Amino acid sequence: MSTKEHQTCAELVQHSFESRTDDLHRLFKAQCDASGAEDGYAVGGNAVCSDCIDDALAEKQRTEPPDQNLSRPFTCTSCNADIPDEDGGIEDLGNLYEYGLSFDYVAPGTFGDQPEGYARFQISWGGPSEEYRFYVGPGFELQRAEFWYLDWFDGAPITCTQNETVREVYEWFRQAGAVETEYQKACKE
Ligand SMILES: [Zn+2]
Repeated sequence: MSTKEHQTCAELVQHSFESRTDDLHRLFKAQCDASGAEDGYAVGGNAVCSDCIDDALAEKQRTEPPDQNLSRPFTCTSCNADIPDEDGGIEDLGNLYEYGLSFDYVAPGTFGDQPEGYARFQISWGGPSEEYRFYVGPGFELQRAEFWYLDWFDGAPITCTQNETVREVYEWFRQAGAVETEYQKACKE
C-alpha cells in the first residue's frame, strides 16, 4: 500500500489543523480590521493592509487623492497580508461568519460511551471531517481544546488548548452567547 494513497488520520491531522487554524487566524484578523475598511487602504494607487497603512501614508505625503477605483478585497502590496472588505471578507475564504459548517454542543453519551460533553465547531463533513472540540468548565470557560481529523472508521485528535487563534475563536463564540445557547439546547433534547 502506497503511503500517498492512504494516509491515516494520525498522519493527516497536524497538517489539517495548521491549515484550518491559519484560515481562522486570517479570518479573525480580517474581522477585527473590517471596521476601518470602508475608506479602503488605498495609498497612491497601491493597496496596503492596516499594519502597513501608517508607513505607506508617511511615505506618500503628497497631494494625490487615494485611488478609490481598486476592486476589493485586496491583499497588501507591501506585505501581502489580507485587506478585508467591510464585512471582514477576504479573497479566498469569505468572512468568519461564512467559515465552517456549524457550531453546536455535543452532550455526554451522544457517541457511544463518550463521557464528556463538548462544544463543537465543525469545519467540514463527510470524508474527511474536521472539527474543533472545546471542553468547558461550569462558567463556559475553556478548559481543553482539540482538533479532530475523522475519516470513516479512523480518527485522530491533537490538543490545541494553548493555540492563540483557537482560544480567540472560542472566545468569539462564547461572547456571542453561542456556547451557552447550544449547551441549553443540547440539555433539553
Ligand atoms: Zn501590509
